[in-house]
Amino acid sequence: MKPEVIFNLNRCKGCGLCVSVCPRKILKLDTSVTNIKGYHPSVISDQSQCIACGSCARVCPDSVITVLKHEEDT
Ligand code: SF4
Ligand code: SF4
Repeated sequence: MKPEVIFNLNRCKGCGLCVSVCPRKILKLDTSVTNIKGYHPSVISDQSQCIACGSCARVCPDSVITVLKHEEDT
């Protein structure tokens, strides 16, 4: 399985909820980027460490995150 985490970065309000729930600690707010809302959006630092638990997508109040699981890659 090769998970893929996709961000709709312009919807992100930089609340950091996803960052705090990720069990692998691979999400962070990218302070080098400012989205159209004026926030620093969440990004994934190491896709290969993601276990596709879906916690980040569930906790996000603005449906920014989509977690895909590529079952064919298992
Ligand atoms: S799916 Fe789980 S492990 Fe992957 S980035 Fe989201 S919270 Fe972290
Ligand atoms: S929970 Fe959603 S809105 Fe909040 S920082 Fe993460 S992606 Fe952005």
